[in-house]
Amino acid sequence: MQRELATHAKNTWCPGCGNFAILTSIRAVLKALADEGTPLERVVLVSGIGCHAKIVDYINVNSFYSIHGRVTPVAEAIKIARPDLKVIGFAGDGDAYGEGLEHLVFAAKRNIDITMIIHNNRVYGLTTGQYTPTSPQGFKGRSTPRGALEVPLNPLELMLASGATFLARGYSGGLELLKKLFREAISHKGFALVDVLQVCATFFNMYEYYNQKVYELKEHDPVNHAQVSAKIREWDYNSDAPIALGILYRKIAPTFDEKFQKPGIDAADRKSKLDELLKPRGTTEADA
Ligand code: SF4
Repeated sequence: MQRELATHAKNTWCPGCGNFAILTSIRAVLKALADEGTPLERVVLVSGIGCHAKIVDYINVNSFYSIHGRVTPVAEAIKIARPDLKVIGFAGDGDAYGEGLEHLVFAAKRNIDITMIIHNNRVYGLTTGQYTPTSPQGFKGRSTPRGALEVPLNPLELMLASGATFLARGYSGGLELLKKLFREAISHKGFALVDVLQVCATFFNMYEYYNQKVYELKEHDPVNHAQVSAKIREWDYNSDAPIALGILYRKIAPTFDEKFQKPGIDAADRKSKLDELLKPRGTTEADA
């Protein structure tokens, strides 16, 4: 029987929010995976805190609503405990590139086989418009009425340096490309990150700007490190340079979860070790 992917949860995103494009695209990809024989019971979604996080309420697939900055470690833990599952993390830019940044760096370094989709609206939307690590310099928001003083982070450059093996950039104004990027990222074996320029229609409406600046990569070789580096640096999230969309980088490399499944440690042994680790502190054999 075909699973209904929509839920009965009332959608509370603002009209025009870029999150709708991410929701539509990921639902389409999950439906395609199901049609091709991937049981959706083998997919787990993880979200954090922020407007993005509600996405798991709107998709009828097992999910874990985590806390701010902790989408990545929760996704990693699920993957290690259940390597047979496809784990997809959704996080905002404040969530993933701010409080959760160190987790993202180490997940990329490990090349753990999870997919991270970043709703990068470059503003804290849920808390009504403060600047984030990717807001442009001069951004005027609730916490920076005279303009943000800092230069923004280029998250894709950082992820490349950290060891990620799949990097892409999408835009909430381009649905077909988003579907393609999500599909490729989920199929990739290793740490995949899709940075989505997801417009916050209420606190940082960048549709007009992005529509003028974005272009889709055509003749780009995602395995050529020099080309990849140059393309990732072409736009630094601050300048008025053209903004490349598409798959920027792809590499095949052993994953952390594969290495973790060492020969000689069978599934039952691993489970008992995990159960031991997850026991509440102070629990003794006698309490069990
Ligand atoms: Fe979307 Fe911004 Fe509204 Fe949040 S505040 S739902 S990100 S438009």
